[in-house]
Amino acid sequence: MYALAAVVAALGIYLIARKKGNGNKQKNKFNASNSRFIILAGSENGTTMRLATSVYEHLLAGGQSAFLTSLNNYQAFPEAEHLLVLTSTYGSGEAPMSAKRFLELLPTIPQTQKIKFSVMAFGSHNYPDFCRYGFDVHLALSKQEWAVPFVEIHTIDDKSPEQSDLFISTWFQQTGLPKMALPEYLTRAPLGLKPMTVIARSEATGTDGAFSVRLKTKASFTSGDLLAIYPANDYRERQYSIGKIDNEIQLSIKLHPDGFGSGYMHRLQPGDVIQARIVGNYDFYFPTFVPKVIMIANGTGISPFLGMIAQNKGKIETHLYCGFRGADSFSLYESQVNQFKENGILSGLHVAYSREGNKQYVKDLLERDAAFIADSLANEAVLMLCGSLAMQKDVMEFLDALCKEKHGKSISHYESHGQVLLDCY
Ligand SMILES: Cc1cc2nc3c(=O)[nH]c(=O)nc-3n(C[C@H](O)[C@H](O)[C@H](O)COP(=O)(O)OP(=O)(O)OC[C@H]3O[C@@H](n4cnc5c(N)ncnc54)[C@H](O)[C@@H]3O)c2cc1C
Repeated sequence: MYALAAVVAALGIYLIARKKGNGNKQKNKFNASNSRFIILAGSENGTTMRLATSVYEHLLAGGQSAFLTSLNNYQAFPEAEHLLVLTSTYGSGEAPMSAKRFLELLPTIPQTQKIKFSVMAFGSHNYPDFCRYGFDVHLALSKQEWAVPFVEIHTIDDKSPEQSDLFISTWFQQTGLPKMALPEYLTRAPLGLKPMTVIARSEATGTDGAFSVRLKTKASFTSGDLLAIYPANDYRERQYSIGKIDNEIQLSIKLHPDGFGSGYMHRLQPGDVIQARIVGNYDFYFPTFVPKVIMIANGTGISPFLGMIAQNKGKIETHLYCGFRGADSFSLYESQVNQFKENGILSGLHVAYSREGNKQYVKDLLERDAAFIADSLANEAVLMLCGSLAMQKDVMEFLDALCKEKHGKSISHYESHGQVLLDCY
């Protein structure tokens, strides 16, 4: 049974890694029932799992019995002395994909012996809920009768190698095991980046301060995928949502003051060649075989939708709800969107300006069309959201209340049926 559990867990690791395209094919040598060290990873795009794998391999090389799996595969660990959690935080303080079930599972499987636990939490100070999920995991573990705090929780901002090194050296030192050298991949850009040529870049204009970039590449991609760039050719990565137009990558980027990634992209000139990679974003592709698609965006969140509409060869009924600060911000996309309407590949266009005219947010447009949105969901339409996490929060709260009122179901019902797709940042 344990062998089966190990196979299932290893398969879990493989599938998670494969889904996010990092090719990690970790297999466990020991199993959950006979390992002294348990490593649980919460990873969205594979980066955290990769570091967890390095720690696991270092323990094995030192002759220790170790077991690595995702937080979702939490189970009984009868021989464990140490539990090491490495987890990122996703969206606005939520669990990453491979950790979504952990907090529910934890109290249902009490361990039979004392286990020392430590948490390494990854996040970015650019987001208000910095490392929130890591703290949630730490707090939940602290409440377990069997769990004994070992190394204090460490937070890692923007993949900082120094902060990672500090935690890893402290943890190995306190376990009394040989030090682990910081893996070299934590300090440099990934291998295998692809050249991409800048075809055009607009100036950052409008009250949103957004600009667009067109890139040509031989790498394969589609609308909804992400472009990962490495502006200093080191470990620091920035991602941008891709719209595929005329076989080129079209990005819409907000220029942040002193922005490391957005500033780099804004300095590009036609003819420049950058090194970047495509990150498959399989859960956010334009759906096929559905009666209707409703796209909801604010600001630069419109970018993947422009590509998806351009690719809407089957003329699936598609409605775009989008919000900007002012008309000058929308002007960057206006002619493209009007062309889509003329070509019959976009059925409805609804634009809100938060600082002009009626001063509306995109949520206000949805409220205005509440009956249409509710009926569409009940009739198997797919809703897609892209833009700021604040917009996502407002819209999801509205949709939840709407669906409960009209259909007696929460929005999570439609989410679990693949009818609500999210890509907010
Ligand atoms: C899946 C995903 C998709 C994304 N798609 C896009 C996209 O299509 N277009 C786009 O413009 N961005 C997108 N982003 C955000 C993008 O990756 C960068 O985070 C953003 O460009 C800021 O990075 P920077 O290096 O320019 O700023 P930094 O150098 O990291 O920060 C510069 C300044 O800006 C502030 N800042 C940075 N980010 C934010 C923020 N989110 N909110 C408020 N203040 C902030 C910082 O606090 C700091 O003061 C996406 C992010 C993710 C995770």
